[in-house]
Amino acid sequence: MVMDRFALEGRLGLVTGAASGLGKAAAEVLAEAGATVVLTDIDQAGLNAVADAITDAGGRAECVPLDVSDRPAIRTAIDDVVARHGRLDVVVASAGITAGPSYRTEAGRIEAIEDTAWDTVVAVNLSGVFATVQAASRHMKSQGDGRIVVVASVAGLKSDPMVGYAYAATKSALVNLVRQAAMELAPHGVLINAVAPGPFRTNIAGGRIRQPEIEAAFSALVPLGRIADPEEIKGLMLLLASPASSFMTGTTIPIDGGMAAR
Ligand code: NAD
Repeated sequence: MVMDRFALEGRLGLVTGAASGLGKAAAEVLAEAGATVVLTDIDQAGLNAVADAITDAGGRAECVPLDVSDRPAIRTAIDDVVARHGRLDVVVASAGITAGPSYRTEAGRIEAIEDTAWDTVVAVNLSGVFATVQAASRHMKSQGDGRIVVVASVAGLKSDPMVGYAYAATKSALVNLVRQAAMELAPHGVLINAVAPGPFRTNIAGGRIRQPEIEAAFSALVPLGRIADPEEIKGLMLLLASPASSFMTGTTIPIDGGMAAR
């Protein structure tokens, strides 16, 4: 039965950025499919709320506070999880930030970009994801099996008038990080893919996307004419995390209401 290939019973998943938005949605769907999920984030209260909701719904979740810009801490956290659970089957790298407005604003012009703002985004969106993939790969290679899902962005596939330079550049870097890692990991049975979301109604940039005029500006760029709800990423997340995607690796899949096709 094809539906059996979406089951994650007995699997151990770990999600970064799990307290909110797309990471929360990923954690929820992994748990719904039967996985035990380790939720990590810098937002401890948010983590606890997501863990409580998963447990109340009959799932299994635990919280590990983690800042992905602290690369040694990522390695330690993932080593600890493997030591406690004896396995690591799925890792979703969703923690990400956007800092700095689009080039269409004065503050977002290339000459206005501050080094500190650039470095902060690179530390979380690129180096944090790299260290997550690195730490997960080490265990998954020796296990001979594993799934890694990286949350990139449609802003990493083409220019995007709504985001800043560091965001666009780091998301694009993830697309090729995933291709490169897929080559090394394939002979070990470890599959790595990325998703490239268009605009989703989350708390990124302080929930700016929820403001009606910002939502309208994003919606105007989307062929489907609207922004998405985080629930709408769950199907793709489950596909990439489960045996159902057994012949997929090294790819980045847009989930963007048609933006990448425009
Ligand atoms: P969100 O703000 O709702 O969730 C991001 C989570 O990451 C938060 O819980 C936050 O506390 C956590 N986080 C931030 N910095 C962290 C750090 N240093 N260490 C650990 N956790 C950290 O935003 P979201 O939209 O769900 O973002 C998730 C991912 O989706 C990001 O990588 C983002 O770039 C990507 N994305 C979002 C959209 C969108 O429209 N919302 C579009 C494309 C890509």
